[in-house]
Amino acid sequence: MTIIYWNTAAWVGNGAGGNLLRMHQELYMDRKTQNIQGQKVESDRTSQTGFLSSVHTVMRNKDRVLNHLPLAKRKVDIMKSLGFHENCSNRQESGRLLKALKTEKIEISDAIEVIHVSTGMSVDAIRKDLLFCYRTGLLEFHITDVCDLQCIDCHYRQKDNATIPFSSVSDYLKHLNPNAITVTGGGEPNCYHSEGKDLNDLVLLIHDEFPHIQMGLINNNTYLPDGKWYDFLSWQRTSLDAHDVLTYEKIKRKRKYNACIENIYHLLDSPIPHVGIGFLYRSENIAGMETFLLDWFERWQKMNIAQKEKFNIQFRPISPAIDRVFEYDPQNGLERQTAAMVLQIKKHARSHEIFNGFLKNQTNFYSIGTNSSSFFLHERKPFVKCYNALLHRVLRSDGNEYPDFLLCNDPSMSLGNVLAAKNADDERIRIALGTFYFYHRLAEQYCHDESCRQCWVSNLIEQHWDSDVNNLNIPDNYFF
Ligand code: SF4
Repeated sequence: MTIIYWNTAAWVGNGAGGNLLRMHQELYMDRKTQNIQGQKVESDRTSQTGFLSSVHTVMRNKDRVLNHLPLAKRKVDIMKSLGFHENCSNRQESGRLLKALKTEKIEISDAIEVIHVSTGMSVDAIRKDLLFCYRTGLLEFHITDVCDLQCIDCHYRQKDNATIPFSSVSDYLKHLNPNAITVTGGGEPNCYHSEGKDLNDLVLLIHDEFPHIQMGLINNNTYLPDGKWYDFLSWQRTSLDAHDVLTYEKIKRKRKYNACIENIYHLLDSPIPHVGIGFLYRSENIAGMETFLLDWFERWQKMNIAQKEKFNIQFRPISPAIDRVFEYDPQNGLERQTAAMVLQIKKHARSHEIFNGFLKNQTNFYSIGTNSSSFFLHERKPFVKCYNALLHRVLRSDGNEYPDFLLCNDPSMSLGNVLAAKNADDERIRIALGTFYFYHRLAEQYCHDESCRQCWVSNLIEQHWDSDVNNLNIPDNYFF
């Protein structure tokens, strides 16, 4: 009998989600029978539900969006004072103004004059309020479209390798003033090069000038720039999406699987607190999902304690483009294949307690397909106004800004482009007013209940509008 020994780490809570304590248990497993030989710890709720693991309490905790509630309220107050709120008596007139601005039929100075006449506020006060509304809560920062892979279905491959100029980053962040930034692409953030600077310089600049901003990184991880950038990230996630070299090459059209795996281990030894792997499930890789999990389970067992604690796997479905609305079709081959695969993995987990614990504690496997009958369609949540537009911004590598990434494929949905504008402050005001346009869901072709993928953001904010965010026991984390 071969006995292997390891510690598993678990969060043990006080039942309310707060004051979590870290504890370890010692387990022994017979490698042949896969049976645990150690004593199970009664109070280890994590191994029963996964509910208190960091994957669930932090990395996939939707409640984090509620940390932005004060910003949403401040913006709504400004909308009220400027006549753009739904309760304002002039809402039809202001709706017409927002539509006219979106189609660029009027200049910003003319729009401000209209607001001035209808509210009696000074032009300076109006501009100041609108410049405040340019800011966002979470910034999805596409720093470059340059990429060393050629993923099938890449949204951004057709673009011309646009890159955010390094010299503009500081000014952008001063005005956007986000609480958190997800550095991503576009292309591969690690390929960022601008004015002789790279990703390391960019992360250090953000940390030095804006130390309050939390930073996360989603990347391909095929190449690691030199430097101390690891020290300043809250989390990192590698888009791996494959269980072997061939599948990786089929999806990414480059032979870089092994380099990517090597770099994942490198990051597991770095100071980054959460190091994850992303698996976007789709027709090309669904057959390998179980092998993928078993492979990483085996790797995880061999990791040291620090690596084990920070390691996580996050599944997401590849989803239809926002302008394509599907209904659940149980006869759809991919739905059936995914259902069979998930069932097969669950069956395996039922007879293998340690593997089951791994699924619960280190992955979001058990949330796959639990939102709706479909494994690929988003869960529809009711919402009245779009708070995502007030709290989230995508800054594309070419300078165009959008309220959510699914709209990036339609240039007419751009809020504006400060980089390309003659007058930067006027453009920021245009963008702020554009967020009011989306708040009111005036982009009717996308902002209806069936299409909107960020409906859960608005749903949560609306449900908790009167809550005191300090009493909600949410982790101090501004990503969502
Ligand atoms: S699609 Fe949804 S999240 Fe995006 S702007 Fe419209 S309502 Fe907001």
